[in-house]
Amino acid sequence: MSRSKRKSEWALFNDARSKAVVFVAYCILNQNSISDGTASYPGSIQELLELVCGSDVGIVQMSCPELVCLGLDRGNIDGGRYPVLEENTRIHKLMSQSPAAGTIRQLAQQLVLQISEYRNHGFDIRGIVGVNRSPTCGVDTTSRNSQEVVGKGVFIEVLRKELEKHNIHVETVGIKAFEPEKAVKTVKPLIWPIAK
Ligand code: SF4
Repeated sequence: MSRSKRKSEWALFNDARSKAVVFVAYCILNQNSISDGTASYPGSIQELLELVCGSDVGIVQMSCPELVCLGLDRGNIDGGRYPVLEENTRIHKLMSQSPAAGTIRQLAQQLVLQISEYRNHGFDIRGIVGVNRSPTCGVDTTSRNSQEVVGKGVFIEVLRKELEKHNIHVETVGIKAFEPEKAVKTVKPLIWPIAK
């Protein structure tokens, strides 16, 4: 019997893992990454963390595209002095153009690769949780023209297209850190599809 044949008969991942994962925006677990003046928690969004940690679902922290592309100060040390939507609009513009746009594509492709791996091995991908109003990770709303507008952030839009290319559907929801009760309501059905 060939080695590969023997391998195929193994029951893969037959251990303690739940085989269920949820992908979350980086700043849900680490508010220290968020643009100056917009953090709502010292560390994680506690209510969401408690929700997921109390379940069998594994948490996958996605990269923070703005931190990777623009740095912690988003390329403007005075950014925090401006109204949030104005600063978000500046960030949206930078994230939409080169060189950030190329990095975003790479991040989205790496993420799709991870999602595909889980999917191909039969894992339950519960969803992706983004951050509404964000110029980058907004799902239902983003920031443009110094306003919060309906639409996706730059990263979520690219990710959506990459997922489509691979014929993968993953439920994607958006939350806001400063609306924790609403955030828990939004994310709960992904974590506990059958109410407990
Ligand atoms: S919303 Fe996205 S880009 Fe903005 S801080 Fe969170 S992870 Fe980073």
